[in-house]
Amino acid sequence: MRFFPLFADLQGRRVLVVGGGAVAERKVRLLLDAGASVRLVAPEVTAWLDGNPAIEVHRGHFDPQYFEGAVLAIAATDDRAVNEAVAAAGRDRDVLVNVVDVAELSSFIVPAIVDRSPLVIAISTGGVAPVLARLVRERLESLLDGSFGQLADLLQRWRSRIKGGLPDVNARRRFYETVVRGQVATLVRNNDLPGAERELERTLQHPDAPRRGSVVLVGAGPGAAGLLTLNALRALQEADVILHDRLVADEVLNLARRDADRICVGKMAGGHSVSQGRINEMLLEQARLGRRVVRLKGGDPFIFGRGGEELEFLEQHGIPFEVVPGITAAVACGAYAGIPLTHREHAQSVRFVTAHSGDSMDGLDWATLARERQTLALYMGVAGLGTIRDQLVRHGRAPSTPVAIVENGSRPNQRVVLANLAELEDAGRAAAIKSPALVIVGEVAALAASLHWFGSAPVQWRTLRAVA
Ligand code: SAH
Repeated sequence: MRFFPLFADLQGRRVLVVGGGAVAERKVRLLLDAGASVRLVAPEVTAWLDGNPAIEVHRGHFDPQYFEGAVLAIAATDDRAVNEAVAAAGRDRDVLVNVVDVAELSSFIVPAIVDRSPLVIAISTGGVAPVLARLVRERLESLLDGSFGQLADLLQRWRSRIKGGLPDVNARRRFYETVVRGQVATLVRNNDLPGAERELERTLQHPDAPRRGSVVLVGAGPGAAGLLTLNALRALQEADVILHDRLVADEVLNLARRDADRICVGKMAGGHSVSQGRINEMLLEQARLGRRVVRLKGGDPFIFGRGGEELEFLEQHGIPFEVVPGITAAVACGAYAGIPLTHREHAQSVRFVTAHSGDSMDGLDWATLARERQTLALYMGVAGLGTIRDQLVRHGRAPSTPVAIVENGSRPNQRVVLANLAELEDAGRAAAIKSPALVIVGEVAALAASLHWFGSAPVQWRTLRAVA
């Protein structure tokens, strides 16, 4: 390790910056944020630097005399000779100098930072590969949401009370562990500060009470891991146990914490699966063990996912929960098939409909569903293509209305079949469509022929029929 990491208090201390361009400006902004008093030397300076009363600007060339009173110096010019002169002047005076992006001339370097003040993470590759440091920074930025700063603030406010309540160092360490990994952190993240303070108080009163379990209901999206939200990713990485549907792709499950238990609770149309009652019981059992439970569902948990029922059950049993929305199949299939679900010329509304075969379809209000100028996104419809066609046509939708069947939407094996309403069942059968597949009915479906961009081109039913 060539550079020793440290955080310096620059409040009211003088820092010399040599250079007046965009890079210098960026450094000055950071220095001012940290309360430093900046002296800047450069023949030319940006407008922002020039007009800023907080900075002592010297228009002219660098001279070692400007080091007077400085505790640090930063050289941000593109003139190697000037940078070297600044480095040498610093060496003579035992003042640390950073030459931006030139590690060999620098006696200190400025790390990439993730700022969740008072929590600040500094990342450095010792000047060897700043690009890598920036990459790490981006990853951390996306993993650490803004609530980390609030949590640190909260702990700071409670610090002396915690110290008073738990004089033993080890007990205090255990307490902090519980707080940052448990409900307090969750409540802060969920924007419930009063709740977080109550929980903190409770934990302080009973520091050794077993950890309370909780459930996060997470939407896994349609399959492609890139369509997970950052919150979903975080929940997966914090999980002790994951109860997932069969629809959830391996690509997504692989992002979970390595040592999290995974329990597949089935739920695939037609297949044998764990009953809803049993799933509810399992969620409760796991949470009561004090574990962080993730209930992972395909798409969005509140759209045809029975997420509501699971939460009602947890609520009745006093288990705290959170919900992370996911990209639902209709939205994903539309996007990945090149079918805008609404369109100024073709459809002013879109309806998400469950077309589970059997009696549930009889209960649908087909008269409204058959109306013009709307798009239907029919979930779970593979077995009921004939019924969908018959009902919509009977209630007045034109047999020539374009339809699309999107199988495995957004996944590498995505297939899109285009036909019209009259041909829907035949097209599905000829293409041997299997679940999961989504049926899109409406003029917009035809746009897939020209707007498709993902995977193989859509197949026209007419072509299919010619081949058969
Ligand atoms: N909660 C889920 C839907 C669960 S119902 C969501 O919001 O997407 C299951 C149905 O969703 C399947 O029968 C199918 O119609 C649809 N579906 C889910 N993933 C799909 C995918 N990748 N491609 C096409 N349809 C999908």
